[in-house]
This record gives sequence, structure tokens and C-alpha cells, in this order.
Amino acid sequence: MIRKGDNMKLYNTLTKQIEDFIPHNPKQVTMYTCGPTVYHYAHIGNLRTYIFEDVLEKNLEYLGYDVKRVMNITDVGHMTSDADTGEDKMLKGAKRENKTVWEIAEIYTKAFFEDTEKLNIRKPLIVEKASDHIDQYIKIISKLLEKGYAYIANGNVYFDISKVTNYYQLSEKNKEELIIGAREDVELDVHKRNPHDFGLWFTSSKFENQIMQWDSPWGRGYPGWHIECSGIALKFLGEYLDIHCGGVDNIFPHHTNEIAQSESYLGHKWCKYWCHGEHLNNASEKMSKSKGEFLTLSLLEQKGYKPLTYRFFCLQSHYRKQLVFSYEGLDIASQSYNKLLNKVNNIKKSAEGEINKEQVFKYQELFKEALRDDLNTSNALTILYDVIKDEELNNNTKLYLIADFDSVLSLDLLKEKEEKIEEELINYINGMIEKRNKAKQEKNYKEADRIREELKEKGIIIKDTKEGTIFEINK
Ligand code: AMP
Ligand code: ZN
Repeated sequence: MIRKGDNMKLYNTLTKQIEDFIPHNPKQVTMYTCGPTVYHYAHIGNLRTYIFEDVLEKNLEYLGYDVKRVMNITDVGHMTSDADTGEDKMLKGAKRENKTVWEIAEIYTKAFFEDTEKLNIRKPLIVEKASDHIDQYIKIISKLLEKGYAYIANGNVYFDISKVTNYYQLSEKNKEELIIGAREDVELDVHKRNPHDFGLWFTSSKFENQIMQWDSPWGRGYPGWHIECSGIALKFLGEYLDIHCGGVDNIFPHHTNEIAQSESYLGHKWCKYWCHGEHLNNASEKMSKSKGEFLTLSLLEQKGYKPLTYRFFCLQSHYRKQLVFSYEGLDIASQSYNKLLNKVNNIKKSAEGEINKEQVFKYQELFKEALRDDLNTSNALTILYDVIKDEELNNNTKLYLIADFDSVLSLDLLKEKEEKIEEELINYINGMIEKRNKAKQEKNYKEADRIREELKEKGIIIKDTKEGTIFEINK
């Protein structure tokens, strides 16, 4: 239970204010995060958004909440424009690789989770494929038609945005501005009553080779992208959602449309807090999967960066600030991250002292204060550095706090150390074996036996075999 006054402060895109976070049910926070469109690898910009969401979830847990988080996998219905125009992203991927859309979805879903695992992004409790919940979308769309919020035109079902008040609240865009924007769109759908009405169900597709199709009361077809997130969120998290997240590009039209259709369906307010992560951009242009260097996590790894260096890079900045990617910036983050790991290694090497509970409490409060302040991860990192350099803290207290903070930061601050120790130990053993072989070649058996004994005292047993000397570590 969270004490009064200890509430997290979170910026809410809906009200444009930093608000006290108070969930509907104090026992469990419900959180929905838009998942990837699995037509290609995620770029590191996409991954920045998932890092932010991961930290938000872990931070809420750190503050004492139980979090139920759901994420979808968009494997159908997402157009390149985010509205109803442009190419179908999944078909684009299938064409590019000469595979079926189902194969593409499988390949890139797997790749997505490989990336997120490397970044210590925890898989949400519930992950659902958009294509697995067609009945749910049909149920919602039927009710929207029944209530007069939707209409059928040219075989498709559209949502009528003129039927809702506050349609533009989340995006803060004004209607006229958007209509001018829409006029520039060459593919204006003439069947829509308003240019910003959006497709709930399509039967009449401009994509002849659309193989993802299902039967519906309006004919064989497929759902629009927006209804998928509303459908999955309502099915798994109920009628009252606490937090809905995504990147800022999701504000309009995706999340705007989610609010319109969900609240029209439910007949009441749906989600309380809308949280958006700012973009990671290239210095000169928008990050893209098709133009410029396609910045993936694997590319960074090929260039020698540890995936967690990228996580560290992101945590150094605030999630609501745009972040510009550059290799120089990543190099600086890499140096700082390695220095941090070394500092922790040194503390671990001389672990001593009884854990000082008062100091633990004091620093945990400071760490929480930073995170409660609209998820200020860079201030949270400063608290970590303060712990490391506090001369009054003994090393066991420091290690306790480092492990504790890492449950939110997930930078493998202590794990890395173990790997390093292992590596150092192996280098030491190999060096000793080499020395012993040299001694044997020189017929200095006394020295060879001494080396064997020295290793034995450390719990390392060596054996000479036909393949050479092998060793065993008795821990
Ligand atoms: P998509 O796979 O295109 O549906 O996008 C996955 C997530 O990445 C969404 O939440 C987007 O809002 C987010 N996103 C897209 N581009 C960027 C970017 N350059 N920086 C940060 N997040 C982004
Ligand atoms: Zn979504």
C-alpha cells in the first residue's frame, strides 16, 4: 500500500499536467503498452520507448504497486501512414522478403523479444497477437454501430468522430489544422464522412493480396490498427485502465482513436493516465527503418557496443525529452557505463561490514524521490553515484543498495562483475598452466609441482590429459 503523500507524479498527456498517480484499484495497477508492428526489426528509437515503459513498470513495483501489464503484437492492419492510407506494413515486409505475412510476423516477433531481452526489458505479463482476437473487435464494432458511433460505407466500417466530444483533447490539435493536413494527403478516402473518421473494419481492400482475412457480419476482411489495442486492453485489463503508454507519434491518430472508440463503447471514461515517450532522432532526420542507416540493436553490437550501454544511454536522459543519437554520444555513455561497472567491481572485491539499515532507508527514499518525480532516471542514477562515493557507507551497504536500485535500472551492475571475475579467474588459471608447462619443459619439476599446489589451495584441480592440461574449479 502506498502512503498518502508518497504518490508518484506522472505527466499525463491527456491533461498536459504532472499529476499524482492514483490507480483505480490501489492493489493493482493496470498498464497497457502498444506493442511492435512486426514487419521489420525494431530500430533503437522504438527500443527507447520500450526501455521507458520497462522502467516505468519496474518503478511502480519498486514503489510498492502490483502491476498488471499487457502488450499487443501488431501483426495486421497497420498502414505506413498510421491512419488508413499508405501501404500495409505487413504486406510491405512480406514483399520485401518474399515470404508470407505470417512468416514475417513470426520472424520479427522473435527478433523483437531477442532485442528486448538483451536490453533487460522484461516481457509484459500478457502479450497478445492482434490477429488472435478478431471476435473481440467484432463485438466492439457491432456495439459501436448499434449505438450510432460507426457507419458502413463502401463495405468498410468507419468510426464517426463527429459523434464524440473532446476528440482532439489528447492531441491538442485543432480540427482545422488537421483537415488542412489531411487535404495534403493524396489518398483521401472519399467514403468517409469526415477526413479523420477511421476504419474499424475493412472489407474493401486496395491490397488484393491481403491474405489476413476473417469472416465478419460486414463481410470477409480485417480490422483497423486502432481497434486492436482497444480490444486487447479491454479484454485483459477491464473497463478502467490506469496507464496507457506509447511513443509520442502514437498520440495522434492512434491513441486519440483508441479513446474515441473505447469510451463510446463503454459509455464512460476509460484510461486515466496517458504517458508518452519522446523520440530518439538522428541528428539530421527522423529515425527510420527505410532511410539512412537502419539503426538496430544488432548493428550496435556488431560495432562492439554492449546492448546495456544503449539502455544506460537512454536512462541518462528524461523520457519526455527528445534524444539525439550519435556514435560519439554512445561512446561517452559506454565509457561512463564501464567506469560504473568497474567502480561496482571494486566495491565487490572488498565487500565488508554490516548492512546499515538507516543508510539503506535514507538512500532508498532519495532514489524513490527521483523516480516519483515523473520518472527522473538521470537523477536516480545520480543517487546511485552518491551511494558509490559515500565514504561513510561500508561496502556491504553499498552493494545492498546497488542491487536494490538495479531492480529498476536493470543495468546488470552486479551480474557483470561475476562474469568479469570468471573471466579474470580463467585468465589466471591459463597463465598458471602455461607457466607450469614451461617449467616442465625445462625439467623444473619442483616449480611445476609448486604451481599445481598453489592452484589446489585455491580449489582449482588440474589434470594432464592427451589433449593437454584441463582444470576443474571446486567452488
Ligand atoms: P511501431 O513498431 O512502429 O508500432 O512502433 C513501436 C513503438 O515505437 C511505438 O510505441 C512508437 O511510438 C515508438 N517509436 C516510433 N519511432 C520512435 C522513435 N524514433 N523514438 C522512440 N520511439 C519511437
Ligand atoms: Zn496501440
